[in-house]
Amino acid sequence: MSVRVRFAPSPTGFLHVGGVRTALYNWLFARHHGGTAVLRIEDTDTERETAGAIEQIQRSLDWLGLDFDESPATGGPHGPYRQSERMERYRDAVERLLEAGHAYRCYQTAEELEAARERARHTDDPAAPTRLHRDLTHEQVARFAAEGRPAIIRFRTPLEGETVVEDLVRGRIAFEHRLLGDTVLMRGDGGSTYQLANPLDDLEMGITHVIRGEDLLPSTPRQRLLVEALGGAFPQTAHLSMILGSDKKRLSKRHGAASVEEFREAGYVPQALVNFLALCGWSWDAETEIMSLAELVERFSLERVNPAPAVFDHEKLAWMNGTYLRALDADAYAGALRAHLADAASPLADAERLDELVPLVQEKLGALGEFDGLVGSLVEERDPDPEAWARLTADERAGAVLEAAAAALTGLEPFDAEAVEGVLRGVCEALDLKPRQAFLPIRIAIAGSTVAAGLYESIAFLGPDEALRRLARARAAV
Ligand code: GLU
Repeated sequence: MSVRVRFAPSPTGFLHVGGVRTALYNWLFARHHGGTAVLRIEDTDTERETAGAIEQIQRSLDWLGLDFDESPATGGPHGPYRQSERMERYRDAVERLLEAGHAYRCYQTAEELEAARERARHTDDPAAPTRLHRDLTHEQVARFAAEGRPAIIRFRTPLEGETVVEDLVRGRIAFEHRLLGDTVLMRGDGGSTYQLANPLDDLEMGITHVIRGEDLLPSTPRQRLLVEALGGAFPQTAHLSMILGSDKKRLSKRHGAASVEEFREAGYVPQALVNFLALCGWSWDAETEIMSLAELVERFSLERVNPAPAVFDHEKLAWMNGTYLRALDADAYAGALRAHLADAASPLADAERLDELVPLVQEKLGALGEFDGLVGSLVEERDPDPEAWARLTADERAGAVLEAAAAALTGLEPFDAEAVEGVLRGVCEALDLKPRQAFLPIRIAIAGSTVAAGLYESIAFLGPDEALRRLARARAAV
């Protein structure tokens, strides 16, 4: 049997790292087995849906390079792939379940349910309130209907026994039926719930493996009972542990960037994010960290997924991103940089001499988003950083240094980094200063900041006229 998996996000906002990791593991599993990866949008709950979320999800997956074989965008033999377009199927399934006695109409109001829950809280049958309308007489049904009460549909969960799940990550887990209660399958307005639509789609789409977050584990026995009541076979499951922040609390905004969009905007490369997330809960061996997508596909297996929670280490991701960036060849780097700047609508995106800046920054940037801070002032004139400028004007040696540097650079040929280095070292010797002392005022004069790309390269990039102009400007200020 060929492997079929699905990533089934609800369109409630940006794709966050937990969701991406689920998407990635599904995709890797499918590719490893030569199977099929399905993207299904679970949009039955229109109240929680946010505008543009489906496009966002698709855009993030495209950017990461995770191509799904069947999806709302590509279509496929089991479509439609948006649940809002599959409502008819959910109604049909409910009819079948009602007819077979696996489901029933419940006329409980929300208030009645809440009150019953309150009463049952400390009893040994906390799920009892979900079953109050399980065996209504014809008269009771007729009376509720006459009152105009809308009916919800509940699943008739067996009162005895248990459902045992052999999860591929978490092992054997038994769920006592008595504690599950009667699951709501359809709301009073006729809308399908997640507990109906999700397993029914898995069944109709021929899904063989459900790989998803551990938070959905409690749904598994309900979904399995439902599928079996419909005469189907429930897929194998693999529930992934949660991703935690460095403080071991569930990862959230507080811990910094958490959505694909944010990482993209900060100038992370998709290969680094994919590699990093692959290792959030899975490993190949104890050492290997850098792996290409092809290597991940070849090596990925659910057996090596760790059931313990994964910790999202922003520092490690930054390191990995820097590693990927440094490994790019100059052309690829310039391309990535240009795309990033264009994405950020930065005026630097079409700086004609961007390629020349690559050697100045490639060893230094942990993320492309740091480019502007490092060399933006070389491309276009910026107001100097006030703190750096104050340091310059307070430095009593600055005047002599700037003057000597200007004299040394005047008429220099060729005006390249090597020649610039030669004459500036000469300035240090002549003034009997350490490079660290002499170069700080020059750096501030040239870049307007104390943190900048290589000094010689920056001066060479500016060219003699602009470099001398900046030195003179600083000289006038001290
Ligand atoms: N739509 C569900 C969610 O976004 C996921 C369902 C599933 O993977 O089973 O939480």
